[in-house]
Amino acid sequence: MSGLTVVVGSINADLLIRLDRHPNPGETLLGDSMAVLPGGKGANQAVAAAQLGAATALVGAVGNDAYADIALSGLRAAGVNLTGLVHPDGSTGVALVEVDRHGENTIVVIPGANGTMGRAAVESQRELIASAEIVLLQGEIPRDGIEAAAALATGRVMLNLAPVVELDPAVVRAADPLVVNEHEAELALSGLAVRPAGTAHEDLVRGLLDAGVRSVVMTVGAAGALVGETTDDGGASVTVVPAPKVRAVDTTGAGDAFTGALAAALSRGEDLVEAARFAARVGAFAVQAAGAQPSYPTLADELPAIRQ
Ligand code: ADP
Repeated sequence: MSGLTVVVGSINADLLIRLDRHPNPGETLLGDSMAVLPGGKGANQAVAAAQLGAATALVGAVGNDAYADIALSGLRAAGVNLTGLVHPDGSTGVALVEVDRHGENTIVVIPGANGTMGRAAVESQRELIASAEIVLLQGEIPRDGIEAAAALATGRVMLNLAPVVELDPAVVRAADPLVVNEHEAELALSGLAVRPAGTAHEDLVRGLLDAGVRSVVMTVGAAGALVGETTDDGGASVTVVPAPKVRAVDTTGAGDAFTGALAAALSRGEDLVEAARFAARVGAFAVQAAGAQPSYPTLADELPAIRQ
Protein backbone atom coordinates (compact mmCIF):
# COMPACT_ATOMS: atom_id res chain seq x y z
CA MET A 1 0.00 0.00 0.00
CA SER A 2 1.27 3.43 -0.93
CA GLY A 3 -0.78 5.41 1.54
CA LEU A 4 -2.05 7.44 -1.40
CA THR A 5 -5.63 8.72 -1.68
CA VAL A 6 -6.71 8.99 -5.32
CA VAL A 7 -9.83 11.01 -6.04
CA VAL A 8 -11.41 10.26 -9.43
CA GLY A 9 -13.87 13.05 -10.06
CA SER A 10 -14.97 16.43 -11.27
CA ILE A 11 -13.15 19.75 -11.53
CA ASN A 12 -15.11 22.97 -12.10
CA ALA A 13 -14.79 26.71 -12.17
CA ASP A 14 -17.65 28.11 -10.06
CA LEU A 15 -19.05 31.40 -11.36
CA LEU A 16 -20.58 32.82 -8.19
CA ILE A 17 -23.01 35.65 -8.85
CA ARG A 18 -24.61 37.59 -6.00
CA LEU A 19 -27.86 39.39 -6.71
CA ASP A 20 -30.80 40.81 -4.81
CA ARG A 21 -33.34 38.37 -6.21
CA HIS A 22 -33.43 35.70 -8.91
CA PRO A 23 -34.62 36.90 -12.34
CA ASN A 24 -37.90 35.62 -13.74
CA PRO A 25 -37.84 33.90 -17.15
CA GLY A 26 -37.29 36.58 -19.82
CA GLU A 27 -36.18 39.19 -17.27
CA THR A 28 -32.82 41.02 -17.20
CA LEU A 29 -31.45 42.17 -13.84
CA LEU A 30 -28.29 43.84 -12.59
CA GLY A 31 -26.38 41.65 -10.14
CA ASP A 32 -24.14 42.81 -7.27
CA SER A 33 -20.89 40.91 -7.92
CA MET A 34 -19.28 37.94 -9.58
CA ALA A 35 -16.34 35.81 -8.42
CA VAL A 36 -14.75 32.87 -10.23
CA LEU A 37 -13.70 30.17 -7.73
CA PRO A 38 -12.31 26.65 -7.97
CA GLY A 39 -14.92 23.94 -7.38
CA GLY A 40 -16.30 20.57 -8.44
CA LYS A 41 -16.85 17.78 -5.94
CA GLY A 42 -13.75 15.81 -6.91
CA ALA A 43 -11.49 18.85 -6.64
CA ASN A 44 -13.10 20.04 -3.41
CA GLN A 45 -12.66 16.67 -1.72
CA ALA A 46 -9.06 16.33 -2.95
CA VAL A 47 -8.22 19.81 -1.61
CA ALA A 48 -9.80 19.01 1.77
CA ALA A 49 -7.91 15.70 2.10
CA ALA A 50 -4.56 17.18 1.01
CA GLN A 51 -4.83 20.19 3.32
CA LEU A 52 -5.39 17.76 6.20
CA GLY A 53 -2.17 15.90 5.51
CA ALA A 54 -3.21 13.06 3.18
CA ALA A 55 -0.99 12.29 0.19
CA THR A 56 -3.62 12.95 -2.49
CA ALA A 57 -3.82 12.67 -6.28
CA LEU A 58 -6.70 13.67 -8.54
CA VAL A 59 -7.72 11.93 -11.74
CA GLY A 60 -9.93 14.34 -13.63
CA ALA A 61 -10.22 16.55 -16.69
CA VAL A 62 -10.04 20.23 -17.53
CA GLY A 63 -10.48 21.81 -20.97
CA ASN A 64 -8.10 24.06 -22.89
CA ASP A 65 -9.77 27.34 -21.94
CA ALA A 66 -9.02 30.11 -19.46
CA TYR A 67 -11.17 28.52 -16.74
CA ALA A 68 -8.79 25.57 -16.42
CA ASP A 69 -6.20 27.54 -14.44
CA ILE A 70 -8.78 28.85 -12.01
CA ALA A 71 -10.34 25.42 -11.60
CA LEU A 72 -6.92 23.94 -10.75
CA SER A 73 -5.71 26.78 -8.51
CA GLY A 74 -6.88 25.30 -5.20
CA LEU A 75 -5.53 21.84 -6.08
CA ARG A 76 -2.11 23.31 -6.91
CA ALA A 77 -2.02 25.37 -3.72
CA ALA A 78 -2.93 22.29 -1.64
CA GLY A 79 -0.17 20.21 -3.25
CA VAL A 80 -2.48 17.65 -4.87
CA ASN A 81 -0.63 15.38 -7.34
CA LEU A 82 -2.04 16.26 -10.79
CA THR A 83 -0.14 13.75 -12.94
CA GLY A 84 -3.48 11.99 -13.54
CA LEU A 85 -5.05 15.02 -15.17
CA VAL A 86 -6.36 14.60 -18.73
CA HIS A 87 -6.79 17.50 -21.14
CA PRO A 88 -9.55 16.92 -23.69
CA ASP A 89 -10.33 19.61 -26.26
CA GLY A 90 -13.22 21.82 -25.27
CA SER A 91 -14.30 23.68 -22.17
CA THR A 92 -13.61 23.20 -18.48
CA GLY A 93 -16.61 22.27 -16.33
CA VAL A 94 -18.46 25.33 -15.08
CA ALA A 95 -21.05 25.81 -12.34
CA LEU A 96 -23.11 28.98 -12.59
CA VAL A 97 -24.20 29.72 -9.02
CA GLU A 98 -26.61 32.57 -8.32
CA VAL A 99 -27.17 33.50 -4.68
CA ASP A 100 -29.89 35.98 -3.68
CA ARG A 101 -30.02 38.19 -0.59
CA HIS A 102 -31.64 35.40 1.44
CA GLY A 103 -28.76 33.05 0.62
CA GLU A 104 -31.07 31.00 -1.61
CA ASN A 105 -29.19 29.66 -4.64
CA THR A 106 -29.84 28.30 -8.10
CA ILE A 107 -27.09 26.31 -9.79
CA VAL A 108 -26.57 25.32 -13.42
CA VAL A 109 -23.68 22.90 -14.07
CA ILE A 110 -22.13 22.51 -17.52
CA PRO A 111 -20.01 19.33 -17.21
CA GLY A 112 -17.62 20.25 -20.06
CA ALA A 113 -14.39 18.24 -19.69
CA ASN A 114 -15.86 16.27 -16.75
CA GLY A 115 -18.21 14.66 -19.26
CA THR A 116 -15.22 13.05 -20.99
CA MET A 117 -14.21 11.12 -17.83
CA GLY A 118 -15.75 7.89 -19.04
CA ARG A 119 -14.21 4.43 -19.02
CA ALA A 120 -11.40 5.12 -21.52
CA ALA A 121 -10.18 8.30 -19.81
CA VAL A 122 -10.27 6.66 -16.37
CA GLU A 123 -8.53 3.52 -17.62
CA SER A 124 -5.74 5.70 -19.07
CA GLN A 125 -4.79 6.30 -15.40
CA ARG A 126 -5.01 2.66 -14.34
CA GLU A 127 -1.61 2.51 -12.62
CA LEU A 128 -2.24 5.54 -10.46
CA ILE A 129 -5.70 4.29 -9.45
CA ALA A 130 -4.48 0.76 -8.75
CA SER A 131 -1.68 2.15 -6.53
CA ALA A 132 -4.11 3.94 -4.20
CA GLU A 133 -4.78 2.89 -0.65
CA ILE A 134 -8.08 4.77 -0.91
CA VAL A 135 -10.01 5.56 -4.09
CA LEU A 136 -12.60 8.29 -3.53
CA LEU A 137 -15.46 8.68 -6.01
CA GLN A 138 -18.47 11.00 -6.45
CA GLY A 139 -21.37 11.22 -8.91
CA GLU A 140 -20.16 14.10 -11.10
CA ILE A 141 -18.43 12.09 -13.86
CA PRO A 142 -20.10 9.63 -16.26
CA ARG A 143 -21.38 6.37 -14.81
CA ASP A 144 -18.94 4.17 -16.74
CA GLY A 145 -16.02 6.25 -15.48
CA ILE A 146 -17.10 5.77 -11.85
CA GLU A 147 -17.55 2.04 -12.40
CA ALA A 148 -14.19 1.75 -14.17
CA ALA A 149 -12.42 3.49 -11.28
CA ALA A 150 -14.07 1.12 -8.79
CA ALA A 151 -12.99 -1.86 -10.90
CA LEU A 152 -9.37 -0.67 -11.09
CA ALA A 153 -9.11 -0.03 -7.33
CA THR A 154 -7.08 -2.51 -5.31
CA GLY A 155 -7.55 -0.59 -2.05
CA ARG A 156 -10.55 0.75 -0.17
CA VAL A 157 -13.25 2.44 -2.29
CA MET A 158 -15.18 5.34 -0.79
CA LEU A 159 -18.25 6.42 -2.76
CA ASN A 160 -19.89 9.79 -2.14
CA LEU A 161 -23.10 9.28 -4.13
CA ALA A 162 -23.59 12.98 -4.83
CA PRO A 163 -25.35 13.71 -7.03
CA VAL A 164 -27.11 10.34 -7.10
CA VAL A 165 -26.43 8.50 -10.35
CA GLU A 166 -27.59 5.07 -11.31
CA LEU A 167 -24.67 2.69 -10.78
CA ASP A 168 -24.09 -1.04 -10.87
CA PRO A 169 -25.53 -2.06 -7.45
CA ALA A 170 -22.37 -4.11 -6.82
CA VAL A 171 -20.32 -0.88 -6.88
CA VAL A 172 -22.67 0.78 -4.37
CA ARG A 173 -22.61 -2.28 -2.08
CA ALA A 174 -18.80 -2.45 -2.14
CA ALA A 175 -18.47 1.16 -0.97
CA ASP A 176 -16.60 1.35 2.34
CA PRO A 177 -18.08 3.71 3.24
CA LEU A 178 -20.97 4.95 1.10
CA VAL A 179 -21.19 8.66 2.03
CA VAL A 180 -24.61 10.25 1.49
CA ASN A 181 -26.85 12.94 2.93
CA GLU A 182 -30.41 12.10 3.92
CA HIS A 183 -31.91 12.82 0.50
CA GLU A 184 -29.20 10.82 -1.28
CA ALA A 185 -29.69 7.94 1.18
CA GLU A 186 -33.36 7.72 0.20
CA LEU A 187 -32.53 7.68 -3.50
CA ALA A 188 -29.75 5.14 -2.98
CA LEU A 189 -32.23 2.87 -1.15
CA SER A 190 -34.69 3.01 -4.01
CA GLY A 191 -31.84 2.32 -6.45
CA LEU A 192 -31.07 -0.84 -4.46
CA ALA A 193 -34.80 -1.68 -4.38
CA VAL A 194 -34.91 -1.66 -0.58
CA ARG A 195 -37.63 -0.21 1.62
CA PRO A 196 -36.34 0.94 5.00
CA ALA A 197 -38.31 0.06 8.15
CA GLY A 198 -39.14 3.75 8.69
CA THR A 199 -38.09 7.27 7.80
CA ALA A 200 -35.88 8.04 10.81
CA HIS A 201 -32.20 8.67 10.11
CA GLU A 202 -31.22 5.38 11.70
CA ASP A 203 -33.75 3.48 9.57
CA LEU A 204 -32.15 4.82 6.38
CA VAL A 205 -28.66 3.78 7.50
CA ARG A 206 -29.85 0.33 8.61
CA GLY A 207 -31.74 -0.05 5.32
CA LEU A 208 -28.55 0.56 3.35
CA LEU A 209 -26.64 -1.95 5.49
CA ASP A 210 -29.47 -4.46 5.05
CA ALA A 211 -29.19 -3.91 1.29
CA GLY A 212 -25.61 -5.16 1.55
CA VAL A 213 -23.63 -1.90 1.62
CA ARG A 214 -20.35 -2.53 3.50
CA SER A 215 -20.45 0.64 5.58
CA VAL A 216 -22.40 3.89 5.52
CA VAL A 217 -21.77 7.45 6.66
CA MET A 218 -24.86 9.64 6.40
CA THR A 219 -24.39 13.38 6.99
CA VAL A 220 -27.28 15.26 8.55
CA GLY A 221 -26.18 18.92 8.47
CA ALA A 222 -26.02 20.65 11.85
CA ALA A 223 -26.94 17.33 13.51
CA GLY A 224 -23.63 15.76 12.35
CA ALA A 225 -23.54 12.27 10.91
CA LEU A 226 -24.52 8.63 11.46
CA VAL A 227 -22.03 5.81 10.97
CA GLY A 228 -23.36 2.37 10.06
CA GLU A 229 -21.19 -0.72 10.12
CA THR A 230 -21.80 -4.43 9.94
CA THR A 231 -20.57 -6.30 13.00
CA ASP A 232 -18.63 -9.57 13.10
CA ASP A 233 -21.75 -11.52 14.10
CA GLY A 234 -23.55 -10.30 10.97
CA GLY A 235 -25.55 -7.61 12.79
CA ALA A 236 -25.43 -3.87 12.25
CA SER A 237 -24.30 -1.03 14.50
CA VAL A 238 -25.24 2.61 14.02
CA THR A 239 -23.32 5.34 15.87
CA VAL A 240 -24.46 8.97 16.00
CA VAL A 241 -21.64 11.50 15.63
CA PRO A 242 -22.80 15.00 16.62
CA ALA A 243 -21.44 18.09 14.89
CA PRO A 244 -19.85 20.91 16.88
CA LYS A 245 -22.21 23.83 17.43
CA VAL A 246 -21.09 26.75 15.26
CA ARG A 247 -22.62 29.78 13.57
CA ALA A 248 -23.08 28.70 9.95
CA VAL A 249 -22.60 31.43 7.34
CA ASP A 250 -22.30 29.34 4.15
CA THR A 251 -22.77 25.57 3.89
CA THR A 252 -21.50 25.40 0.26
CA GLY A 253 -19.08 22.51 -0.03
CA ALA A 254 -19.48 21.40 3.60
CA GLY A 255 -20.30 17.87 2.48
CA ASP A 256 -17.13 17.83 0.38
CA ALA A 257 -15.03 19.09 3.32
CA PHE A 258 -16.55 16.30 5.42
CA THR A 259 -15.86 13.61 2.82
CA GLY A 260 -12.28 14.72 2.09
CA ALA A 261 -11.57 14.84 5.83
CA LEU A 262 -13.07 11.37 6.26
CA ALA A 263 -10.65 10.03 3.63
CA ALA A 264 -7.69 11.78 5.28
CA ALA A 265 -8.55 10.31 8.69
CA LEU A 266 -9.08 6.79 7.30
CA SER A 267 -5.76 6.99 5.43
CA ARG A 268 -3.93 7.69 8.67
CA GLY A 269 -5.48 4.59 10.22
CA GLU A 270 -8.45 5.90 12.20
CA ASP A 271 -11.52 3.67 12.46
CA LEU A 272 -14.72 4.80 10.76
CA VAL A 273 -16.36 6.35 13.85
CA GLU A 274 -13.19 8.23 14.84
CA ALA A 275 -12.79 9.39 11.25
CA ALA A 276 -16.41 10.62 11.13
CA ARG A 277 -15.88 12.59 14.35
CA PHE A 278 -12.91 14.31 12.75
CA ALA A 279 -14.88 14.90 9.53
CA ALA A 280 -17.81 16.43 11.45
CA ARG A 281 -15.40 18.91 13.05
CA VAL A 282 -13.96 19.76 9.62
CA GLY A 283 -17.46 20.16 8.13
CA ALA A 284 -18.42 22.50 10.98
CA PHE A 285 -15.22 24.51 10.40
CA ALA A 286 -16.08 24.87 6.70
CA VAL A 287 -19.59 26.29 7.25
CA GLN A 288 -18.15 29.25 9.16
CA ALA A 289 -16.66 30.91 6.05
CA ALA A 290 -17.91 31.65 2.52
CA GLY A 291 -17.29 29.41 -0.48
CA ALA A 292 -16.17 25.79 -0.74
CA GLN A 293 -12.36 25.38 -0.99
CA PRO A 294 -11.52 28.77 0.61
CA SER A 295 -13.42 27.66 3.74
CA TYR A 296 -11.46 24.43 4.29
CA PRO A 297 -9.04 24.06 7.21
CA THR A 298 -5.39 23.04 7.14
CA LEU A 299 -3.65 21.09 9.88
CA ALA A 300 -2.61 24.43 11.40
CA ASP A 301 -6.24 25.47 12.06
CA GLU A 302 -7.99 24.79 15.32
CA LEU A 303 -11.16 22.78 14.69
CA PRO A 304 -14.35 23.37 16.68
CA ALA A 305 -14.86 20.76 19.40
CA ILE A 306 -17.78 18.31 19.74
CA ARG A 307 -19.26 18.96 23.18
CA GLN A 308 -21.37 15.87 23.70
P1 ADP B 1 -24.60 18.22 2.22
O1 ADP B 1 -24.29 19.66 1.94
O2 ADP B 1 -23.83 17.27 1.36
O3 ADP B 1 -26.07 17.90 2.30
P2 ADP B 1 -24.56 18.32 5.10
O4 ADP B 1 -25.43 19.53 5.06
O5 ADP B 1 -25.09 17.09 5.77
O6 ADP B 1 -24.00 17.93 3.66
O7 ADP B 1 -23.22 18.77 5.85
C1 ADP B 1 -22.06 17.96 5.87
C2 ADP B 1 -21.37 18.11 7.19
O8 ADP B 1 -21.00 19.50 7.41
C3 ADP B 1 -22.21 17.73 8.41
O9 ADP B 1 -22.11 16.35 8.65
C4 ADP B 1 -21.56 18.57 9.50
O10 ADP B 1 -20.35 17.97 9.95
C5 ADP B 1 -21.19 19.84 8.77
N1 ADP B 1 -22.26 20.85 8.89
C6 ADP B 1 -23.17 21.21 7.95
N2 ADP B 1 -24.00 22.18 8.41
C7 ADP B 1 -23.58 22.44 9.67
C8 ADP B 1 -24.01 23.35 10.72
N3 ADP B 1 -25.04 24.19 10.52
N4 ADP B 1 -23.35 23.33 11.90
C9 ADP B 1 -22.31 22.50 12.10
N5 ADP B 1 -21.85 21.63 11.17
C10 ADP B 1 -22.48 21.60 9.99
